[in-house]
Amino acid sequence: MLNKGRLEEELFTFLAEKRSRDLEYDYILSSMCTIPHSVAVRAHCMFMETNLGDPGLFPGTLSLEQLLISRFATLFHCPQAGGYATSGGTESNIQALRLAKVHRSDCVLPNIIVPDSAHFSFKKACDILGLEMRRVPLKKDFRMDADLAAEQIDKNTVALVGVAGTTEYGMVDPIADLAKIACQHDLFFHIDAAFGGMVIPFLENPPPFDFAVPGVTSIAVDPHKMGMSTIPCGCLLTRDPDLFSSLNIETPYLTVKKEFTLAGTRPGAPVAGALAVMDYLGFDGMTAVVSGCMKNTGRLIAGMETFGIPRAATPDVNVATFICDKSRVQGPWKVSWTCKKHLRIVCMPHVHGGRIEAFIKDIGEIHA
Ligand SMILES: *Cc1c(COP(=O)(O)O)cnc(C)c1O
Repeated sequence: MLNKGRLEEELFTFLAEKRSRDLEYDYILSSMCTIPHSVAVRAHCMFMETNLGDPGLFPGTLSLEQLLISRFATLFHCPQAGGYATSGGTESNIQALRLAKVHRSDCVLPNIIVPDSAHFSFKKACDILGLEMRRVPLKKDFRMDADLAAEQIDKNTVALVGVAGTTEYGMVDPIADLAKIACQHDLFFHIDAAFGGMVIPFLENPPPFDFAVPGVTSIAVDPHKMGMSTIPCGCLLTRDPDLFSSLNIETPYLTVKKEFTLAGTRPGAPVAGALAVMDYLGFDGMTAVVSGCMKNTGRLIAGMETFGIPRAATPDVNVATFICDKSRVQGPWKVSWTCKKHLRIVCMPHVHGGRIEAFIKDIGEIHA
């Protein structure tokens, strides 16, 4: 801590210098985050000091959170589903597994079944919750092998996880097949749609992934990715809205007597931001955004293939992967590489057509 304070202008010069070292989104092709929509920024600023952790003080903001959840519940084909706004996919996944675990308090050595493609947040969740994580190999198409998943289930399995829009390859697991298996074994079936939840509903032929599939228990979705909200905003939904009561603990000094959330103090600002984007764009607006991102993904794949850089997978959502040598990507571009060393590019809304063409042109010149 500084002994004396600092002059405001001097302080902000310091902050601006630090901020200027951050990269601009123009060249970021590796992130699932994007520039927040202008209405998200405007709403965020309006709700800056709100705390959803003490909702009795902010009933207006609380009603926005409930509205956001009910928008997702309807979008995911279960209007009566319940839920709350989290800090993102990690918290949503932790809380989903916590729900699954408390419902099986009989289990001494509980395990969960996840695809090999599961996000690393499941590792954190298993560490915290004392769960054994059983990884199921993927098929050649980078989707979870449902038969192998079934083989891993035993009496100590408390949850099955499917991913709708995998982080690395943009694939949707065979959710309907997995749901059947979950039903047969009476298992908690969690869908990690952190990325895909704001993409799949807007596709021309959406693969089944949500509460329309019988057996799906809960869904994680992140407005701070394709929902273009400000950070941090995730949502966790459960088909049965009463499920969360099993996580309630007593909160003596708050306006509410109980709380099931993981965080205590929770920001209302990004929640208002997320709802603002949803209501501003509506279903048609989001469909236009997603269709643009999918078009760019297709264009990128086609362009790269004309330079002899083949796709690694044919993705269900806007994540493109390539069998490509690292030396072929140069210049200011920020790309990412998967565990299997494939080039990975996420075609987020800020990665518009012009950026894609510029990237393809650069790759082509290096190749030539
Ligand atoms: C991004 C992502 C997560 C983690 O979400 P955070 O918001 O970074 O905590 C979890 N699962 C999937 C599939 C993701 O794409």
